[in-house]
Amino acid sequence: MIIKNINTEVKYIALKIPFITALRRVEVIEFVRVYVICDEGKVGIGEAPATMAITGEDISIILESIQKVKDSLVGLEIKKALEVLHEQSIGSSAKAAIDIALMNLLGFFKLEDTSFIQTDITISLNPIETMLRDANRACENGMSILKVKLGSDINHAIEVTQKLSLDLPEAQLLIDANQAWSLDESLMYVNAVEGLSIELIEQPVIAEDLKALKLVTDATKIPILADEATFTLQDIKKVVQTKSADMINIKLMKCGGVSRAVEILEYARKNSIKCMLGSMLEGPYSINAALYLAFNYRDVIEYVDLDSPLLYKEVSDELDFSFLGNLINFSGRKF
Ligand SMILES: [Mg+2]
Repeated sequence: MIIKNINTEVKYIALKIPFITALRRVEVIEFVRVYVICDEGKVGIGEAPATMAITGEDISIILESIQKVKDSLVGLEIKKALEVLHEQSIGSSAKAAIDIALMNLLGFFKLEDTSFIQTDITISLNPIETMLRDANRACENGMSILKVKLGSDINHAIEVTQKLSLDLPEAQLLIDANQAWSLDESLMYVNAVEGLSIELIEQPVIAEDLKALKLVTDATKIPILADEATFTLQDIKKVVQTKSADMINIKLMKCGGVSRAVEILEYARKNSIKCMLGSMLEGPYSINAALYLAFNYRDVIEYVDLDSPLLYKEVSDELDFSFLGNLINFSGRKF
């Protein structure tokens, strides 16, 4: 199978309510869909969302990157194209979009075990009362794995955590600071919440400061999860070797797609590293790709953070999976 052409299309999906973290506020998901067209009439589809605050790529950068590598991929066999793609120096999301399309053409997306998995649901950063209301609502709807987004106001962060833990003792609290805290604030936070039942704390300090991340990890029994600090397998190895965090968050848009995520998951499996499989706010086809991984690597992936489709204003008919609350079932192959 030889690549004949690569086309792109920009798409938008409205959210039910704004998604707010320490880094950004989103009301509409914007993403690039890429079509890799082959000589036998087969088409592989991939996607990349614009996540400037995290990967440094907006829609125009993603489109430019795809345009830039297009000529080096057209005319190649799929496996060769995959190799050539990952030698290019373009952003990780643009790479991921093409990688997903190529893995799609290679027939990668199959399931072994189709029994359901569970995702967390995001509680956006808001005034305390709003966060408590949103968390209560999620639990009433049977969704009790909560990804709680916290911001730079450390007193707010501590108070929200204490109230959620008291109000909703059955909820699993996954705390995500998205790099908002200094080392001192992080230590203050872990001291204040140490006795509470918290599953993990994600990326308390800035991505570049592994030393600070390690100091937080060493200071608490609560597992610390590296997210923005770990884009590639190399980053992950560094965090593991220096014991800077207890767990890692893998995202297709950080590592450059499914083929790279598989390398990371195999490494994690071999070294017994606990993982979260996360995503940005993404369109249905890149979420499909991540969900196949979440199902097939359920032994390595302790937490699934793939709730984008739950946040869409309208249910997508392009997913291979259906969501019942936070339970995800395989519903048949379309992707
Ligand atoms: Mg995160």
